[in-house]
Amino acid sequence: MGTSNNRKAALLFSVIFWGSLELSSYIDASSLVRAERPDEPITLLRPHAATRAARFFVEKFPGKSLYAVKANPSPALLETLWAAGITHYDVASLGEVRLVHKFLPDAKLCFMHPVKSERAIAQAYHNHGVKTFSLDSHEELDKIVRATAKDGEPAADLELCVRIRVSSEHAKLSLASKFGAEPDRVADLLVATRQVADSLGIAFHVGSQAMTPAAYADAMELVRGAIVASSVTVDIVDVGGGFPSVYPGMEPPPLESYFETIHRCFEDLPVSYSSELWCEPGRALCAEYASLLVKVEKRRDNELFINDGSYGALFDAAHVAWRFPVELMRETTAEELAEFAFYGPTCDDMDYMAGPFLLPSDVKAGDYIEVGMLGAYGCAMRTEFNGFGDVEDFIVEDEPMASLYTQIAANDAGNVIAIGRRSAS
Ligand SMILES: *Cc1c(COP(=O)(O)O)cnc(C)c1O
Repeated sequence: MGTSNNRKAALLFSVIFWGSLELSSYIDASSLVRAERPDEPITLLRPHAATRAARFFVEKFPGKSLYAVKANPSPALLETLWAAGITHYDVASLGEVRLVHKFLPDAKLCFMHPVKSERAIAQAYHNHGVKTFSLDSHEELDKIVRATAKDGEPAADLELCVRIRVSSEHAKLSLASKFGAEPDRVADLLVATRQVADSLGIAFHVGSQAMTPAAYADAMELVRGAIVASSVTVDIVDVGGGFPSVYPGMEPPPLESYFETIHRCFEDLPVSYSSELWCEPGRALCAEYASLLVKVEKRRDNELFINDGSYGALFDAAHVAWRFPVELMRETTAEELAEFAFYGPTCDDMDYMAGPFLLPSDVKAGDYIEVGMLGAYGCAMRTEFNGFGDVEDFIVEDEPMASLYTQIAANDAGNVIAIGRRSAS
């Protein structure tokens, strides 16, 4: 890029001043391809889609929505979510604490990793004003108490969320093995935490991309059992993340049905009227925010060698065989769609995405492909392994390939789903 072709392109795009950032914008990916013919992969950003998702959670979730920063920590996205009304941020490392504190100095930060270093806790509390921490063991509770004390005096303003282990059986990605106290043995920990916390919460995570609201209903039953067994007063119930997005072969029920189930279960819990309901969406707030534009460097039968891969934005496509919607960026006379697998640009055999990705059968070297729904756990995973990793960001104004937030339609099974500019099949 940066050639004289860009003079012509200048007529097609505008420059958007966006917070502290300045990004060029196109109507859609194909006008970008016509103007730029990029050699490196491109991240296509749709701030309007992130704003729409954030407004949906702010207006419809019956409690407070914390953005789980690990899904996509880009400062431009943080600023977009903040402007749309997301005031609380779930951070999991000192790096994320510093990042969000720098770009959103007035945001409330909640340090929701149940295993932290004592120094990270101390710095978050004393230097960045973080008062909210999660834990799943007595050791972690002791660490938090020691790290937040000042001149021998224990902190009096801690908001502590005890994370319990719940099933991931309804989720596409499990989060059930690593963290969480056993719900039937957590009573001691709840009582001990109550004694040092100004505000006590119970938190869980049903696993990422939970395909049914029943995941939350089951988890709320475990919360009820823990509250009854410990007889503590609970001030916060945090249902975590796991809210789904739309991908090929994964069309979840509407988000409203998740919110209704959670609200009903929350109302039934033995907690006081003043207690708060929180959630921590990552994926659902940013999956629609970004897509990826790649170039085909070579075709070998039904394998396409493309210029981004598992060390770039396609980690999940390689390592958990996640499928993403794709679209060829040119007109074609091919009548059939064929199934393709992708190889990424590095010299590593593992840089392979099985798909299948459905594309017109005449796709060839030199073509461009847009890969959709990569705003969550896609663009955030990029590395520079093997000298690849250069990427440029552009804003596009069209709709994401699929959406949980736009027009309502019904799928074959009769479930109500929402479809963006086309369905994610
Ligand atoms: C990853 C994570 C989230 C976000 O999960 P999604 O499935 O992306 O919504 C929320 N809370 C915690 C503690 C997490 O680790």
